[in-house]
Amino acid sequence: MKSSDSYHPFLIVLGILLLAGAGAGSWWVYSRMATLSGEVASIKSTLASTTELLIQTIEENLASSAALTEEKEALEEQLEDLSGTVNTLEKLSKIDPELLQKYSKVFFLNEHYVPERLTEIPDAYEYAAAEHNLILSPVWSYLRKMLDTAKRDKVEIYVSSAYRSFDEQDALKGQYSVTYGAGTANQFSADQGYSEHQLGTTVDLTTTGIGGSLSGFQNTPAYQWLLKNAHRWGFVLSYPPGNAYYLFEPWHWRFVGEDLADDLHDDGKYFYDLDQREIDKYLISLFD
Ligand SMILES: [Zn+2]
Repeated sequence: MKSSDSYHPFLIVLGILLLAGAGAGSWWVYSRMATLSGEVASIKSTLASTTELLIQTIEENLASSAALTEEKEALEEQLEDLSGTVNTLEKLSKIDPELLQKYSKVFFLNEHYVPERLTEIPDAYEYAAAEHNLILSPVWSYLRKMLDTAKRDKVEIYVSSAYRSFDEQDALKGQYSVTYGAGTANQFSADQGYSEHQLGTTVDLTTTGIGGSLSGFQNTPAYQWLLKNAHRWGFVLSYPPGNAYYLFEPWHWRFVGEDLADDLHDDGKYFYDLDQREIDKYLISLFD
């Protein structure tokens, strides 16, 4: 018996074992692959849902951030409006509302009213030196510029009278009564501009050529110049010719601020033509 020609039983067993081992090995590989691919699928699905959740979260955040931005902007706008209102009120609180009040024969300024601050008008601007006329301090710079500009235009305009206290006005009226008789004195312009002079914002103006008087002022170049230019410094004619309530006072000019004076000039209207409510809108810009 040739051992080389026959299979040794050991070899046969080994062969069987090897075959069985290979079978078992490949089964393990397949089973392992199946498990892995299952895991991959599960990870993929988790990833997909996580991604979806993430996108959803980002979108929600974006939406809420947009909403927050909008809310913030609305609040900022509100804040701006509020501080604007506060500033306006603060500014208004510093301006005396009497300064743009309409006065009439039935509505006078309180007899105890005294302007907050008065400035003495320098002699150079007064028709009669040493008159020591007073004017409301913030109005003086407007008046000075107006008179300086007139002078540069070769028109001489001087202050004849400015602030008058209640008592001074009362005394003046008494004088007129003595000179002209009570009836005429009451009709006299001194009555009409009465409250306006007590405010300190109003001046009676005169010029050379009429001897410093008031009457005849309407026929002077000074009057024509004022009609054309006074509004540029906030001055208006209170009592124009032919007005419904008062005698014509060509010399009597009241400071109402440049805004209102400009608008009145543009519209061909007078201070007393407007309603008080309309006038009050200009208070805030009185000294702008
Ligand atoms: Zn006057």
